[in-house]
Amino acid sequence: MKFATKAIHAGLEPDSATGAIMTPIYQTSTYVQEGVGNHKGYEYSRTLNPTRHALEKNLAAIENGKFGACFGSGLAAMDCVIKMLNPGDEVISTNDLYGGSYRLFTTIFEKYGIKFHFVPMHNTDAIKEKINSRTKLIWVETPTNPMMNIIDIEAVSKIAKSNNIWLAVDNTFASPYLQNPLDLGADIVMHSVTKFLGGHSDVVMGALIVNDEKIAKEMYRIQNSSGAVCGPQDAFLVLRGIKTLHLRVQRHCENGKEVAHFLRNHPEVDKVYWPGFENHPNHDIAKKQMRGFGGMISFTLKGNQLQDALNVVKKVAIFSLAESLGGVESLIGHPATMTHAAIPKAEREKTGVVDSLIRLSVGVEDVEDLIADLQQALG
Ligand SMILES: *Cc1c(COP(=O)(O)O)cnc(C)c1O
Repeated sequence: MKFATKAIHAGLEPDSATGAIMTPIYQTSTYVQEGVGNHKGYEYSRTLNPTRHALEKNLAAIENGKFGACFGSGLAAMDCVIKMLNPGDEVISTNDLYGGSYRLFTTIFEKYGIKFHFVPMHNTDAIKEKINSRTKLIWVETPTNPMMNIIDIEAVSKIAKSNNIWLAVDNTFASPYLQNPLDLGADIVMHSVTKFLGGHSDVVMGALIVNDEKIAKEMYRIQNSSGAVCGPQDAFLVLRGIKTLHLRVQRHCENGKEVAHFLRNHPEVDKVYWPGFENHPNHDIAKKQMRGFGGMISFTLKGNQLQDALNVVKKVAIFSLAESLGGVESLIGHPATMTHAAIPKAEREKTGVVDSLIRLSVGVEDVEDLIADLQQALG
């Protein structure tokens, strides 16, 4: 089956009790057993809930994986991955990373004796330099936030495999419609379902998808033992969101392309970071591993003045000033004072997060209106 058919049908069956075509919201904590151990596959909703189960099967299908697990947030899904490791183990991670992921690694797991190395992964030699006998996991995020660097998943997976290391990929920015890391050799795919999968800015959720049975067993053991699961209402909303994922992401890509070109030709704009440009340093890798270039764009202003950037994010009327991304509505953000404010200026500027950098999550509105909005805000 191809992508859209899977998104709409995989894992879903009419409700066996009523024939309801949409998966019901099984708002229940427990399930009556006919006798001890004689149940219909569901015992307690932390362990398994039918609405969540349908979503987990659907997510596995659209990531070309065998096993899916949903969590209360993207970070809770990552928490599950790191809990598969032991004290003394080491992780090599993308350095240009979602801020919350960095906080989880360094302020939670370092104190339990897991060591993290942060390296620029578009240079695969930087990964090799950090590998030793304790290395258990490589954590890749691509495209990166907010600089839109692209990391070659297949190349990193070769390094991981030859050293017997797991490769996990945060696929939030691309969504399963644009990129399937398991097909490129990853062992674990992680999503902040909050973003494109949910797609309507009304849910916080995370997910993991894997193929290997041993990893899946660990994943479900930790999901049940730590208990950071999502609720059935949220699972229902995400099942609904995924049915239009392909349509939404197609439009995100179309709108993203037009907005990126508009910005590149604007006299007040300095640099535009979008992997669809042929002169983007990793454009060839993006073309190889992604089916489109998405609607996430970052750009800087000529003169690089903080106040100019703050004026732009204030003057927009259709774009909303907010963290997050991937919803139908367009969002604008200022990384230096918002998502990356906790990182010292010198440190963030090394990766390109300068004072005038602005990040857009281009939504699925009419692109003429979005461009007119940016035009007036930049003017
Ligand atoms: C939002 C985000 C996360 C964290 O997900 P939550 O659902 O907010 O916990 C992780 N990685 C990336 C790339 C994100 O954008």
